[in-house]
Amino acid sequence: MTRVHDIPDSVPVLIIGGGPVGMSFALLLERYGIQSLVVERTDALPQTPRAHVIRKRSMEIFDKIGAASAIFDAVPEPETRFITWVAQLAGMEIGRIDMAKEGIPNGWANLPQNLLCPILLDQMAHSELADIATETDCLDIATDADRITATLRSGDETKTVSARWLIAADGANSQTRNTLGIPLSGPEDLGQFYMVHLKADLTEWVKDRPGPLFWVLNPEAGGTLIVHELEKSHVFMVPSRGKELTQDRLIEHIRHGLGGGIPFDILSAGRWTARSQIADRYRQGRAFLVGDAAHRFPPTGGLGLNTGILDAHNLAWKLALVDKGIAQEALLDSYDMECRSVAATNAEASLHNMMTLGEVHKALGPFKTLAELERRLDTLTPQEKASVQRAIDNQTSHFTSDGILPGTWSGEPHRDLGVPANYGSFKLLMKAPPRWAAPLAMLEKKHRIRIELYPSIQATDHGGYLKDKEAVLLRPDDQVAWTGATPEDLDVALAATLAGPTAAHTSAVTAA
Ligand SMILES: Cc1cc2nc3c(=O)[nH]c(=O)nc-3n(C[C@H](O)[C@H](O)[C@H](O)COP(=O)(O)OP(=O)(O)OC[C@H]3O[C@@H](n4cnc5c(N)ncnc54)[C@H](O)[C@@H]3O)c2cc1C
Repeated sequence: MTRVHDIPDSVPVLIIGGGPVGMSFALLLERYGIQSLVVERTDALPQTPRAHVIRKRSMEIFDKIGAASAIFDAVPEPETRFITWVAQLAGMEIGRIDMAKEGIPNGWANLPQNLLCPILLDQMAHSELADIATETDCLDIATDADRITATLRSGDETKTVSARWLIAADGANSQTRNTLGIPLSGPEDLGQFYMVHLKADLTEWVKDRPGPLFWVLNPEAGGTLIVHELEKSHVFMVPSRGKELTQDRLIEHIRHGLGGGIPFDILSAGRWTARSQIADRYRQGRAFLVGDAAHRFPPTGGLGLNTGILDAHNLAWKLALVDKGIAQEALLDSYDMECRSVAATNAEASLHNMMTLGEVHKALGPFKTLAELERRLDTLTPQEKASVQRAIDNQTSHFTSDGILPGTWSGEPHRDLGVPANYGSFKLLMKAPPRWAAPLAMLEKKHRIRIELYPSIQATDHGGYLKDKEAVLLRPDDQVAWTGATPEDLDVALAATLAGPTAAHTSAVTAA
């Protein structure tokens, strides 16, 4: 880790923000041999849990940077079986989703952000090329056609650093995005909440229905309880309904929301606003927005962090090839084309999830006090019970969907091709044992890239591509770049991929 006076005057890639997305970006760039510097104003060890659901695709990406097994090992509560609705945690249960019945998503990890970031920071500490300057603030940036200049400060020291590329990974309130003058579109205030980080041992109330989420419908003290570490760390999300809530008021709310005299301490409390917004563009010259700097969603559905990891994965290989002079600069325009629509879909899904949560309340009918809710639960007819359970079951997709993945500007969506998670090169999947060794060697030399060959792969061709084609070309981010039959066509496809989208592609996407 670097202090401000040790920072070189110039770096190839400067990443503002050492949250999970900024650090992942640096570690992805390292896989391509590109040096970067992450600048993070804190010690990069967040104290609050925040995001916790790490989806399968994000885990595959973490695998590529060597962090997946440490992440799986660090998961504190591996059993994430139930999502439960209660009047109070220690009170009456309203219903549950049993994810075992629905098929618990494969390959997920439920690891809070405060436990994820130290793993990424440790990876950075062992990295030759991905450096981080912690407790260093980026005060300002200036951009011109050839370089970015950033003013950094640590303690009393300031320093100017120049970079060929700038990555804004500085979170939902990105100052870099503002300085670049990139506006956001979408609903700006979907409600305000206090995220209250609690220390409490909830074993007794959770052990028989293990799971990460409890929706507390107590009308006097409702909210969402996120169980991170059963014996010690949880978040209670308290709706603020436009009011400032004092610490005493929050304690009272949570005591009444948990019920049963459960002891707890408040470790921290912060107010935040749920939004569903996306930056109007992801690229401005040599600067790019990634993660929450590019999009901010309500947390319902757990798509924020995951979409940010997809951003980093989509952009890193492109930036590396352009920086090395192997691909043309226009390839970088495809980042916006491929990822902004994904963020739009995931923002919509998160918003939809947030709105449909009200269905459970609606199915229960009106109640103004906890006593009324409890009476209601005691007197539900079998049909009413079934309708409440239906409303609960309706929420299942929030918790089991993987979100969507980027397609490519040339049109192919990502599909699971069951290819080993090697990183960095293009991959050619072939139906038959190859007779292409010589042409491939020639194409590698001509385009200055590596192409790994996977012959006879149809057994794991879950996308079904090889049913009627000889070969499939995957980009370094495992997206399908081309399907076809001859090395001559592959040559054309590689040239087109490295050249990036043409004006025709760009206007087709803009029109769509
Ligand atoms: C309560 C809650 C629950 C959530 N649950 C989920 C979930 O389950 N799954 C999910 O996918 N997402 C979830 N999210 C969203 C998730 O936390 C964010 O999407 C994620 O943190 C985004 O990562 P990031 O690296 O882009 O930004 P951040 O994590 O915000 O990191 C940005 C970093 O930039 C630094 N920084 C900012 N400005 C500067 C500057 N000028 N100079 C230097 N450093 C700077 C900050 O200190 C920070 O460390 C949740 C969010 C909340 C609030």
